[in-house]
Amino acid sequence: MGAAEKTLPSLLKDIRACRICEVHLPLGPRPVVVADTRAPVLIAGQAPGTRVHESGIPWDDKSGDRLREWLDVDKETFYNPEKFAIVPQGFCYPGRLEKGGDAPPRPECAATWHPKLIPLLPNVKLIIAAGQYAHHYHLGPARKKTLTETVANWREYERDHILPLPHPSWRVTGWLKKNPWFEAEILPYLRSKVRGLLEAPA
Ligand code: SF4
Repeated sequence: MGAAEKTLPSLLKDIRACRICEVHLPLGPRPVVVADTRAPVLIAGQAPGTRVHESGIPWDDKSGDRLREWLDVDKETFYNPEKFAIVPQGFCYPGRLEKGGDAPPRPECAATWHPKLIPLLPNVKLIIAAGQYAHHYHLGPARKKTLTETVANWREYERDHILPLPHPSWRVTGWLKKNPWFEAEILPYLRSKVRGLLEAPA
């Protein structure tokens, strides 16, 4: 059976066994991804941090707490795979940069798996692209010069069912203070949109 003909369970099995970029992974491969054909919302983040690498639970950290607050959903809803698919740009912890902070998601990951995985999620009606790496992948040349500009122009991407957000890590705290329009304008839209999609019959 070719890759294009794979079913979702079969592809997820392949992803969980993936070792493509293991030489670059300081803690080794541990792909963290959640996908169910019924999910109406896809969360596209960056890559697991060390805590998520240990637990194997996506967004099991302070960034996840902030993301759930932005979405206005509790953990039970967030971790229901029928509601949220969780497909980061890199599925394994990529290590740290010398200058500090987590390294970028491994580029092999989205290049290898996303074109196979995302078409197997036919019910997705909103992709929440959190952070510059997700903007790069999901918006391509349609993204703006800066993350702030891309997020500020979010309405341009509505027709493609993509909502660009900053990554909800601790680093976003200062950005939120400088850009109060995000909480005033985008969060109410995000919450209302997500609520509508979660309540809609599958
Ligand atoms: S980061 Fe992606 S490509 Fe690399 S080993 Fe993990 S699943 Fe495979």
